[in-house]
Amino acid sequence: MPALPSTQDGQNDLVLKSISRQLRRCYQCGACSNGCPLYSFMDLGPTKIVRLLNLGFFEEALKSTTLWLCVECQNCSMVCPNAIPIPSVLRKLKEWAVLNNVPVALPEVAGFQKQMRESIARYGRIHELNVVLKHRLSSGQIVSDAILGIKMLIKHKLDFLPSKVRNYREIRQIFELPAVRHA
Ligand code: SF4
Ligand code: SF4
Repeated sequence: MPALPSTQDGQNDLVLKSISRQLRRCYQCGACSNGCPLYSFMDLGPTKIVRLLNLGFFEEALKSTTLWLCVECQNCSMVCPNAIPIPSVLRKLKEWAVLNNVPVALPEVAGFQKQMRESIARYGRIHELNVVLKHRLSSGQIVSDAILGIKMLIKHKLDFLPSKVRNYREIRQIFELPAVRHA
């Protein structure tokens, strides 16, 4: 199998080599895609992503919506007879794509994930209302789901104001680490 390409800054080379070794154990049984709850929304799914990587079609794998729809539920790795850590592979691919400015397959999902990270870095937890409003503003869909949001606010299912966890500064420091900042 061709080696996965090096990252721009060389930081992830060891990780990528280790991933390459693990992927070689795949014999395409398809259990990972069968067990994936998001499979029907993905263009390829985990089985095909592993196959592409093993054949050296790295760029095709990077362009897949699979990277951005994976919620790291771990179902695929649990059912994999070879214990291949597919969620970690997908996460590494996603990091690699971001680091190397590969066009994102699902920009709206990437934008939403960015807002979530920023909320955690700021408050130590996710402030849902803030995340959703920022995401809606950036995607130009501010009125979408507005009625639902108001109903949730009235029923106290959403916090109007953000609250910080006690040690939020420590969490912010984690997000300032270079390896996390660029992930
Ligand atoms: S479950 Fe494991 S062995 Fe089967 S296709 Fe998926 S990665 Fe390959
Ligand atoms: S970890 Fe990702 S790819 Fe694996 S089953 Fe869950 S959503 Fe699907």
